[in-house]
Amino acid sequence: MLLIDCPYCGKRPETEFRCGGQAHIARPTDPSALSDADWSEHLFVRANPRGVHAERWNHIHGCGRWFNALRDTVSDRFIETYPVGSEPTTGSHPSQGTEPTRSTQTETRA
Ligand SMILES: [Zn+2]
Repeated sequence: MLLIDCPYCGKRPETEFRCGGQAHIARPTDPSALSDADWSEHLFVRANPRGVHAERWNHIHGCGRWFNALRDTVSDRFIETYPVGSEPTTGSHPSQGTEPTRSTQTETRA
């Protein structure tokens, strides 16, 4: 069974967790200034990389708290988990920032 290291509870079985999608997505400072297409892209377009991805996770059947994780989508290996509002200590991660990377990320699959 895969164990996920909750930053608050320690290692727990994967069945206690739920993935909340891509992490580090900043809300636009002035949403009313965006076009409908830009707002739609902010709401619905997410990276889907093959490799290391920063994700939000919830320990839904444990402490109930949200945290971030770097996970390799190929091996399903968790590289690091860290509290929301902090950065990973394992170098840079590819999905940080506000720009969606849909076109480059989804087309890299072999
Ligand atoms: Zn927890």
